[in-house]
Amino acid sequence: MNNSSKEMPDDKGYFGEYGGQIIPPPLIDIMNDIDTAYKEIIQTKEFQDELQQLNADYVGRPSPIYFAKRLSSEVGGARIFLKREDLNHTGAHKINHCIGEALLAKYMGKTKVLAETGAGQHGVALATACALVGLDCEIHMGEIDIKKEHPNVTKMKILGCKIISVTRGTKTLKDAVDSAFEEYLKDPVNFFYAIGSVVGPHPFPKIVRDFQSIVGREAREQFLAKENKLPDTLIACVGGGCNAIGLFTAFLDDASVKMIGVEPAGKGLDTNDHAATLTLGTKGTIHGFECYTLQDNEGNPLPVYSIASGLDYPGVGPQHCHLKDIKRVSYEAIDDKECLDAFMKLSRLEGIIPALESAHAVAYAMKIAKDMSGDQTILVNLSGRGDKDADFVADYLGL
Ligand SMILES: *Cc1c(COP(=O)(O)O)cnc(C)c1O
Repeated sequence: MNNSSKEMPDDKGYFGEYGGQIIPPPLIDIMNDIDTAYKEIIQTKEFQDELQQLNADYVGRPSPIYFAKRLSSEVGGARIFLKREDLNHTGAHKINHCIGEALLAKYMGKTKVLAETGAGQHGVALATACALVGLDCEIHMGEIDIKKEHPNVTKMKILGCKIISVTRGTKTLKDAVDSAFEEYLKDPVNFFYAIGSVVGPHPFPKIVRDFQSIVGREAREQFLAKENKLPDTLIACVGGGCNAIGLFTAFLDDASVKMIGVEPAGKGLDTNDHAATLTLGTKGTIHGFECYTLQDNEGNPLPVYSIASGLDYPGVGPQHCHLKDIKRVSYEAIDDKECLDAFMKLSRLEGIIPALESAHAVAYAMKIAKDMSGDQTILVNLSGRGDKDADFVADYLGL
């Protein structure tokens, strides 16, 4: 990590105009302590050895790069490759930063890790990482989400995590965030709040990015070994933005590599049912940092929607906002219908059932590949597998 684009954020946690610490002063001190500890700990050989060993023997890294031959010939044009984060233990990229955060909490001597979860994906990945390193884990989840996401709730229980059912307000993600945060503030010296994406106050967008950037480092090396050149285009879906930044970081200085982040257009960008934050949002503040947000006239977050629950967030990682403004990455949107089409095509042409989140990225690759030439290549980050979505899609499509 020794070039300009990766030196971001600055000392105050800003990526250009975005990021920072929009939180009360006592909390700023605590966040700065975490940053100091993080910088010290990640330089130790002990931490790096332990992380590397867990990545290899536990997560199953490196995840392969796979040439999707039948999908590519069906679509025509550029060849489409997949970075197989769906093959990681627990089935998605989230384990990459959850293990990093849990290890960091352990090295910092914290006694309890806590977080909120919406659909339960972050909760399961974090509960897994806490079981692995031997830390208490407490997940706050809205009462409505607990009823909806039963398999994930069961997994978290089996993994030994304490689940707090949040019954206030909308009984969903937003109130779960508030509830988890209140618990954290009871003892921030001994507790660790494990944020689930490249969002929240500094240093979290940086810490989560650093742990996810293994995806791009591997991919760059693997692709060069396979194809003797870099991919022409990278594509990843964007909720908070951690799988995308994880892939993009290693390529930011490769001017020839085009990068595209794909947001959910839901039922259409002309409806209220989408979560296309970078495409349609404006600058605002959410959860302790500045970013593009979907907000009302008073600056409150608007309700958002996506068929992929991992993408429905009304804010987005600050580095993505900066990368959009400097035009290094372009951000596009894919609607539910295009997502489902890609979900079925990848399943039936390649035998890979993708997460609905990842299917957004596949859909965009299918959209642009046909207008590219046969010697060009697209690398898609297949952020997760679709086990969690299979019943829903089958019902929805009447299979
Ligand atoms: C949570 C999730 C996402 C969205 O999170 P990012 O921070 O944008 O990466 C994408 N894909 C899968 C499979 C997820 O579980």
